[in-house]
Amino acid sequence: VNTKIGSYAKEDPPDVTVLGRSSWTLLHSIAATYPEEPTNKQQKDMKQFINLFAGFYPCWFCADDFQKYITTNEPKVETQDSLGRWLCDAHNDVNKKLGKPKFNCDLWKQRWKDGWDEQ
Ligand code: FAD
Repeated sequence: VNTKIGSYAKEDPPDVTVLGRSSWTLLHSIAATYPEEPTNKQQKDMKQFINLFAGFYPCWFCADDFQKYITTNEPKVETQDSLGRWLCDAHNDVNKKLGKPKFNCDLWKQRWKDGWDEQ
């Protein structure tokens, strides 16, 4: 069988795992570049982005749970660190549901922004 389409590999549509990993990469990276002191408009826009993201997330059962999570745990958009930690907590909520280990949210910035401290 031909495994290429033109010069591209014939890759399959993303499953829940591939979609999830890519989406967390995007979300945590957005937090990593969110301003440390966002304007009121940036805070409002970020809340709206998270709500729209949750509404259109292309895995319906993930989206359902994420929307519920947002309703009971309002996004903390006041600073870059508050957003990064809020996302980390949200990600941990999914980790818990899937039986994955809890990530230490004190380290979110090293993982997604600054790189690891020398130990
Ligand atoms: P991922 O969980 O994708 O994490 C990627 C990397 O992020 C990890 O290797 C680690 O370095 C880092 N990381 C891990 N935890 C944290 C954290 N708390 N904070 C910061 N960084 C962290 N899958 C389902 O099967 N059912 C669902 O209901 C579901 N809901 C989802 C909802 C959303 C909004 C998203 C974005 C994804 C959802 N997923 C769901 C996908 C799931 O969370 C994982 O992305 C997927 O299982 C792949 O897991 P992974 O082991 O590759 O690591």
